[in-house]
This record gives sequence, C-alpha cells and structure tokens, in this order.
Amino acid sequence: MESIQSAAQVTSWLVTGRVLFLLIHILGVLCFACIVAKRLVPLVRGQRDLRFDQPLVRLGRVLKFWLGQWKQPRYKVAGTIHIFIFTGFIVLAIRAFSVLIVGVSQNFVMPGLSGRTGEIYNTITDYAATVVFLCMAIAVIRRLVFKPARYAVPTRFGKAHTADAIFLLSLIAILMVADSLFAAAKAAAQSQQGQPLEVLAVFSLPWILQGVFASTALPTLGRLYFGAYLLHEVTFYFLLCYRPFGIQFHVETSLFNIYFAKLDREILKPVRWGVSDEHLDQVKSFGVKTFEDFTWKHMLDFYSCADCGRCSDNCPANAVGRPLSPRFITTKARDYAFQHYPVVGSSNNGTPLIGGIYSADEIWSCTTCGACEEECPLLVEYIDKIVDLRRGMIDDGNVPQSLQKPLKALESRGNPYGKMEKKKADWTKAKEFQQTCDVRVLNGNDGADTLYFVDSITAYDDRMQSIGRATAKILNHVGENFGILGAAERDSGHEVRRFGEETLFMALRDHNVEAIKASGVKRIVTADPHAFNALKHDYKDVPPVEHISQVIAREVKAGKIKFNPIKKADNVYTYHDPCYLGRHNKIYDDPRDVLDAIPGLKRVEMSRSRDRSFCCGGGGLMLFYEPKEDERMGVKRVRMAAEAGANVIVTACPFCMVNIEDAIKVAGMEGKMTAIDLAELVDQQIAHESQKVA
Ligand code: SF4
Ligand code: SF4
Repeated sequence: MESIQSAAQVTSWLVTGRVLFLLIHILGVLCFACIVAKRLVPLVRGQRDLRFDQPLVRLGRVLKFWLGQWKQPRYKVAGTIHIFIFTGFIVLAIRAFSVLIVGVSQNFVMPGLSGRTGEIYNTITDYAATVVFLCMAIAVIRRLVFKPARYAVPTRFGKAHTADAIFLLSLIAILMVADSLFAAAKAAAQSQQGQPLEVLAVFSLPWILQGVFASTALPTLGRLYFGAYLLHEVTFYFLLCYRPFGIQFHVETSLFNIYFAKLDREILKPVRWGVSDEHLDQVKSFGVKTFEDFTWKHMLDFYSCADCGRCSDNCPANAVGRPLSPRFITTKARDYAFQHYPVVGSSNNGTPLIGGIYSADEIWSCTTCGACEEECPLLVEYIDKIVDLRRGMIDDGNVPQSLQKPLKALESRGNPYGKMEKKKADWTKAKEFQQTCDVRVLNGNDGADTLYFVDSITAYDDRMQSIGRATAKILNHVGENFGILGAAERDSGHEVRRFGEETLFMALRDHNVEAIKASGVKRIVTADPHAFNALKHDYKDVPPVEHISQVIAREVKAGKIKFNPIKKADNVYTYHDPCYLGRHNKIYDDPRDVLDAIPGLKRVEMSRSRDRSFCCGGGGLMLFYEPKEDERMGVKRVRMAAEAGANVIVTACPFCMVNIEDAIKVAGMEGKMTAIDLAELVDQQIAHESQKVA
C-alpha cells in the first residue's frame, strides 16, 4: 500500500513501528507470563487432586462445555450474549494474532488465509467484531440499567465487582473499535487511491467507519491507521495482563477448568487424594482449614468463576435467606488468593478460613443438593469443597449443638434417633401388613435374590414406615424374592459423610458391606434416594442397587404392574424430584412414567423440576440442624406446587416427605395440599388379580 505507511514502517521519534511493536510484544508477553506464574503459586502449594485420567473423555467435555457452550442457553438472554461473545472471540483470535504480527512484518498473511479464503475470513471477522462490540454495549447496559438481581452482592458477602466488570467490557469494546478503525482507515485510503479494495462486510463496524472516513485526507487517514493499530496493541496487551487480576481471568483458565472438571460428580472426593482408607489414620489433619488445604483444582475453580451468579440464583439455601450463596464461596476465596498471593510482593498464607472469609453457619447451610453445580457453565464444583470445609470443622471439634446428639447416636446405635437396633424391623410387624406381606430378615441361608435396604428414617419414623410397607408390598406383588437386614442394617451413612464425619461414615459403611455380603443377595433395592446414592457411589463391592421407582417403571412396562384408575378426579398431581434421585443420579423419567401409567391421573410440572428441582431442605443431616433462614425450603416448594395448579405432591424420598408434609402445615395449606410417596401411591393404585383393571 503506497497511500499510507504500514504500522511497521511508520517512524516516530526515531523509532520505527517495527521496533516499537516488537518491544510492546516482548513486554506484553513477559508481563503476562510473570503474572500467570505468580497466580499459579497457590496451585503449586495446594493439595493433590487426581484429574489426569481419561484424556479423550475430558477433551470431549471441552468440546461440549467450552467450545459448545452447552450450559449457556439455560439462561436465554445472558446465555445468548455469552455465546455471541465467545464465538466472536474464537473467530477473532486468529485475526488478533495476524494483526499483532503485522506490526513487525507488514506483509504478513496468516497461512491459509490468502486469496478468496482470506476474503471470506475477513468478512466473518468484520461481523464478529461488530457483534462482540454490540454485545459489550448490551452487557454494560444490562449491568448498569437493568441490573439483574443475580449480579447483586449483599454487603455480608463483600463488595460488588461491577466497576471491574464494566471496565473490562469497555476495554473489549475499545479493542473491537480499534480493530475496525484500523481496517476502515486502510480501506478508505485504498479507495481514495483507486487501489484494489479490501472489501469490508456490509453494515459491519469497519464498513460503517469506512463510510465515516471516506473523504478524510490521506495524511489524516495514515495517522488514524497508525493510531488505531497502536491502540489495538496496547489495549490487547493491557487486557491480557489485567485479566488475571479479576473475574475475567476465566477467559484464560476456563478451558483448563473444564478439562480437569470432575468426571463423576456423585462420588465425593476422598479426604486426601492418594491416601487409602486404611492409611487415613496417618493423615495429620482432615479437611480444609486453610486456603492451602484446598486442592489445586479447587483453586483453579476460584480463578475460573465468571461471577455470573447462576449458582446462587438456583441455590435453595440462598433463596430462603440462609447465610450461604455459593457464588461467594468462590469469589471470597479468589479475593483471598489475590490478596495473600499478590503478583508483587511475597505471599502470606495459612490463615484459617472459618472465621476468616467463611462463617461456620454458611458452610453448615448447604443441603448438598447440587443445583449450583448443575447450573455452572464452567463446571465449578461446590459439594466437595463444602464437605472438605466441614471435615476441617469436625476435625477441630466444631460441631453444631443440634447435631451432636444424632452423631453420638449414630456412633453407638447406628441410627441418628438413638433407637435400639433390635427394633429396626418393627415396621414389618403392623398387623394388617403382616397378613398380606411377609418380610423376611435375611440370615444368609434363605436364598433371597434381593435385599430391600430400608435405612434409618424409613425403619424408625412412624410416618415413613408406611413407605417401607408400601415398598415391601410392591416387591411382593412383582414376585421378588427379597428380605431385609433387620437389626444388622445400620444407617447408610450418606448424610454423615456429607456432614464431614468421614471416620463414622467408614464404620457404618464397613458394617453394612459385611452384612450385605453375608446376606448373599444378588441385588439391592431401596426407596430412599440417599441410601441409593450411598450404596451406588460411596460403597464398594456391593451388588447393584436400584431405586424402587426404577423397579416399578420396569414392571409397569413388562405388564406385571397394572393400575386401577384414580378415584378422585379433581386431584392434580405434581412430581417433586428428590435431589439424590434426580440431579445426582439422573432418574427423572421413571417416576414420571409410573405416574403417567395410572389411568385418570392428571399431572402438572412445577416451574422448577427435573435438573432444576428445588431442594426440600432435607439433605446433609439437615433434619437435625436448624439453620438461620427467612423461610423453610419446603414451604417455598409447596408454594411452587400450588402455583403449578397441583393439590397433591408426589415424591420418592422419605426425607422429602418429612419436609414437605411439615411445610404444608407451616404454609397453612392443610386440606388444600397433600403429599404422598410414589411407592405409597403405587401401592394404593395397584390392581390385584382379584380386581378388575380399567
Ligand atoms: S449444593 Fe445446593 S445448597 Fe449447597 S451451595 Fe449448592 S445449590 Fe446451595
Ligand atoms: S460458580 Fe459458576 S455459576 Fe457460579 S458465579 Fe461462578 S461461573 Fe457463575
């Protein structure tokens, strides 16, 4: 181009553009490398985390969740904006690289992007720059004017990062304008000189700017061209080096965070990676007490959070005003890392997290429902961190008062109620039930195929015993050769483990595994999703386990279970997904299929259902813990059912049943709303051979 000098050729203050831009490149890259190296220091000091297995599976997840932006559309407006920005960035990445090289080598063309391909690529980048610019403007307006509630930062959780977010969005917008101005000035000069034009995409930002500068004098266009290039370079490197100081660091770390994300979310992390249960007594300190007790991957999570607030938006603890909002578990830890591992200066570590950045109540408030993890587009993990923080508190003897008694009872009696082991099978002794269904206590020599694992709440709670009896009757109806462990069954330990009491959990698990093995069964069935999750994911070497809803769905399909029509025609049913059946084990359809197979049953969906189900508040020993909250989770859930037009809530978990029935009373909806377990409903509706099936 003769009309205006290329950026590399321009000489000002005796320095050629080539030298100037080479210096900027070297300085920018060096600065970025030093900052990132400092940011990696805590990760090097963090605990082990084994995330290097199954590279192909992990790459597949990168394609799905990072490149494919899989979770973004769950939030339509913000998700669409993010997909546009992300796609724009990917498209512009190659262009940004070639523009950087042009500063030191004016004729550089990216291999493969000359001729017609180059023209097509340039057209796409023109539009990409325009879209990213517009998205930045929309994002700034959203944050400043519309202020979605999930971006707000309550004072108890720290300071809002709005100014930082807007500054960064503006920098990206400036980068897009500089890039477009650079292309527009060049095209305007070519046009004035009658040279072959680099065609700019119609209605794109460069195209509009070319129109604006069409009649600008050539020398001015030259200065504009050089100035736009310089602005692009400086903004690019400033952005690169500034991002690791705030939420935009996720641009660099998210790909790695997704690659190293947990492959099986249901399996809780061990107390220490690489230390087997047998060697746990050699571990000096359990759980997370200081920042350095987090694993390197959990620290990477802190850097990778985009502060979008989706986790907290879906967190039931946050919704009812408990002192927990998962987003701030992350942002407070990130602020801690930035403050204690500064880029300039030496690190200052080892301060306790509880009482420092987190309160004990905040950490006990979690029900481990998994809604936060389900929602996070960057696969940030919470349950493992929260359980690790609890393990640390338990190790220090910091146990909430209300939980001390159930924990002692679990230790001495194997159940949180402190009831006698010999009473564990008393639920089978109800007179009417015994006449129709004989439940054997297995001794290992009775040739039973199936174990019905009852667990503490169903065995001991008077109301929940009805779920146990219904389950046994269903198994009996389909001809299952089954029995129970009776006094030999201890609590599954599911809640104990999530509460952070790993040693007690191990004792309960080992006892149960031995009893299950001694029973000689080939498979296990349970009606309790918590027991189901423990047996499936926390236990090893036990026969395969199924939830009763899976058994019923299969037998309905096989024609072994047929139903009588619903008698109350005005009943409208809704199904509440228990967290440990739905979100944690992806069993959404079986219970619904069963309900839909009952003739005359009218079913509606609540606004929050399936993987967005709203926790009833029962997980993580919550039945024994009284958190500070404005409203019960169960009450919120019952209101959601009423809003959906239902008057019967069906669930498939005894913990949900306790909470929902209680919530119906608290909400003053007795007589207007009832709750029933799926097994109870199926037992009521089963058409026995003597009955006529409609
Ligand atoms: S697991 Fe549930 S309760 Fe716990 S932080 Fe996540 S969303 Fe909140
Ligand atoms: S953890 Fe995930 S969902 Fe929560 S604010 Fe960060 S990026 Fe968003």
